[in-house]
Amino acid sequence: MGSTSIGKLDSAAPAFSNWIANRPVEALSGKVFEHVSPIDGTVVARFADSGEADAAEAIRAARAAFDSGVWANAPARHRYKVLLKAAQIIEANQQKLADRMVLESGKPAVTALGEVAGAVKTFEYYAGKVLDLEGSAISDRVPSALGLILREPVGVAAMITPWNFPLLNPVCKIAPALAAGCTVVVKPSHLCSGPAVLLAQYLAEAGVPDGVVNVVTSALERGAVVGQSLAASADVDKVAFTGSTATGRAVMRAAASNNKRVALELGGKSANIVFDDADLDTAAKVAVSAFCFNSGQQCSAGTRLLVQDSVYDRFLDAVVRNAGLQIVGDPREPTTTMGPLVNREQYDRVMGYVEVGRECGKLAIGGDRPAAPALDRGFYLNPTVFADVGNDSRLAQEEVFGPVLAVVRFKDQADAIRLANESRYGLAGGVWTRSLDRALGVVRRIRTGKLFVNGYNNVGIDDMPHGGYKDSGIGREFGREGLAEYQQLKTVQIKLG
Ligand code: NAD
Repeated sequence: MGSTSIGKLDSAAPAFSNWIANRPVEALSGKVFEHVSPIDGTVVARFADSGEADAAEAIRAARAAFDSGVWANAPARHRYKVLLKAAQIIEANQQKLADRMVLESGKPAVTALGEVAGAVKTFEYYAGKVLDLEGSAISDRVPSALGLILREPVGVAAMITPWNFPLLNPVCKIAPALAAGCTVVVKPSHLCSGPAVLLAQYLAEAGVPDGVVNVVTSALERGAVVGQSLAASADVDKVAFTGSTATGRAVMRAAASNNKRVALELGGKSANIVFDDADLDTAAKVAVSAFCFNSGQQCSAGTRLLVQDSVYDRFLDAVVRNAGLQIVGDPREPTTTMGPLVNREQYDRVMGYVEVGRECGKLAIGGDRPAAPALDRGFYLNPTVFADVGNDSRLAQEEVFGPVLAVVRFKDQADAIRLANESRYGLAGGVWTRSLDRALGVVRRIRTGKLFVNGYNNVGIDDMPHGGYKDSGIGREFGREGLAEYQQLKTVQIKLG
């Protein structure tokens, strides 16, 4: 198997600079880093390896653009047109963006194209919201006064993003921020930086003025330095972070320096609950995609499968059968449903949890690499299911971020609710039952930000707010709540007469 550090140098690998004030800019140190594909160890891109000074330059550009009013004070119809054009340019470049994601992160081509489609829809949605921006007035409570409630952009927003949805994650922050009139600095993960840089270029092409969107990339070693500079800067008014719960805490601490607004989208260990009256065939198929989608590298993954006693054995068999149907392979192949894990560290970490699983459950399938020699150089793992796992075990409580499922047994509705809530996380979850009363009874008592009933991740309503309860985060992305995150209220009281 290949290593992340020994890549075959591919001379065709493109070089990406930072994007500051609508220009490509090298890191001030002149340093670059190479990104090695998890598919086969080939170098697939070079990026600027930025530090604190580069972050400061990007912040200066964003601050100057915001303070000039070039974007915040532009007519709403102009901002609407630019965001709509951005959606069109992203769509026109869907293959290029998808190829970048496949090569850099190893996600299957079909998943990458779906992510681009999500980015297009998000820009279209927030373009529409620009035409709908309005405040309110209070006129009839006190006859001698008029009250106005204005919604203003928060200001300069910093965005620190992970690698697992390397396009949609920046987009679900940038699109509402631009709709609100903010300017932004984005720091993508070193494990998949290309889509964010391409996106900034497309936004410039769409007509976003200089300094409104800036991107600073950095290697692993300087990721925390750049992230902390952005989170701590007194010239930044808001930081939106998506990543692990531990890093989220560090971002929040840094953001306290000027009490800036903070939004955190963090980890999860979501319960997918199957009752005995469910459509078990469909539930078993979807339970597998819920933990295998994006090779399990998904914050909302349904990685704790709670199954009612009375159907447990039969349902487990069906899950194992469906897990065996996943096609683990080269993500460039159109039939592949699961690509490699993103790098060696992630692979080793997930394999560590496979060992944990052997101690706290019974291996029902997987735990090994696919046999194909062509995949030897990548970080591939078969879908892995552990049965009879205790809900208090490490496998059922910790986020694995790989295709590893913990199956837990429950007796009745009260037991299912108790087990689902016994988690530090509260990001997503699923409920499978033919009874609407039961579904709603469970939904109302589970402390989590998003629940699917008789589906998982595939229900089709994308513009709903996403975010976590408990250790899974603060704030919401998508939907009108996602826009409100980039607005602040100003009240004006006018004495009449
Ligand atoms: P990570 O926390 O390691 O890194 C996220 C980003 O933070 C990267 O850009 C990184 O360079 C930067 N960073 C690292 N240290 C920092 C510091 N001290 N200060 C500021 N920034 C710092 O996360 P990851 O491994 O890239 O992503 C996986 C995690 O993201 C998982 O826990 C997953 O659940 C979570 N995630 C959550 C959501 C959600 O919507 N809730 C979505 C996707 C991913």
